[in-house]
Amino acid sequence: MIGAHYSGLANLASPLLDGCGAIFMLHRVGNPPLESGINGFLSVQGDFLQQLLCELKQSGLLFVSMDETIDRLKSGHKDEKYSTVTLDDGYRDNLEVAAPIFSQMQVPYTIYACTGFASAGASLWWEIVGEIINAQPSVSLQSKSGTQNFVCGTSAEKQHAYGALVNLLSSQVDEFEQRQIVSKLAKTYGVDEAAHCKEAVMDWDELRKAAKDPLCTIGAHTLNHYALARLSREEALNECVESARILENELGEKPKHFAYPYGGKTAAGERETDIAEEAGFTSAVTTRHGLLQANHKAHLFALPRISLNGEFQRVHYVKTMLSGFTVPVANRGKRFVTV
Ligand SMILES: [Zn+2]
Repeated sequence: MIGAHYSGLANLASPLLDGCGAIFMLHRVGNPPLESGINGFLSVQGDFLQQLLCELKQSGLLFVSMDETIDRLKSGHKDEKYSTVTLDDGYRDNLEVAAPIFSQMQVPYTIYACTGFASAGASLWWEIVGEIINAQPSVSLQSKSGTQNFVCGTSAEKQHAYGALVNLLSSQVDEFEQRQIVSKLAKTYGVDEAAHCKEAVMDWDELRKAAKDPLCTIGAHTLNHYALARLSREEALNECVESARILENELGEKPKHFAYPYGGKTAAGERETDIAEEAGFTSAVTTRHGLLQANHKAHLFALPRISLNGEFQRVHYVKTMLSGFTVPVANRGKRFVTV
């Protein structure tokens, strides 16, 4: 039986030693990573998710919805520690693999759906780049600043080339040129961006099906999955407001919660927290590594998360993160993490 080896004594206390709560972050569930391991950190196996939820529940951690998470923060709830599960982007496996696990475990969850992915009009560009590098011995990239060649014969070279390319596309060209470059790459190397999106991500009918699950909350994740901090204020606000409007149109309910695409320093800062609030959301999550503290009551648009990383699929790793030990390590000594 899963978790049967767990010590009775450990059941007495929640593993959340620091803070009042935790928001878990997932992307893909149940999909094996590419052979080269590229993007493997974004995918966890269903077995691991089930074992983790089971052990965390047995050890006394409470799982609540995002609405309740925010209510507890607002009311300064101090009793039992709590957590909530979130999944970014709207991958189909969230419905096919993860939802049945959440249902069996009675764990509420939030899917942050990017409307452009649901319509197959936006590109999962980091996966496209990953697929190309995975399949090619070398990749030649053309941008406004010229042609660059990336050798990607071995697994190590592929990992290195992927890191270099993603870095270039996320920092040396703007968000719009990034998409143009990836589209050109996709054409050159025979990868169909729209077909990839349709294969990977839930369409609107599937999102409607997901939304019917009483355990499921659908949150917003922009129109095009741009790094908002790299857009003008007007463009960034439009990404938030319009995505909420489309989700409401398609699903019949206005989303209250929001996740910043990428969610790191170069994608979401102070300006973006103002924008998310102005767009009418109740909360917004980043990808900064941290636990919820009572003071997050005043920072509901800058909530950190605990990533369930595909490269570290061990329950004890997650328990170490929940202890709070890794938070100052990842945040220059800070325990209280915002943007
Ligand atoms: Zn995302």
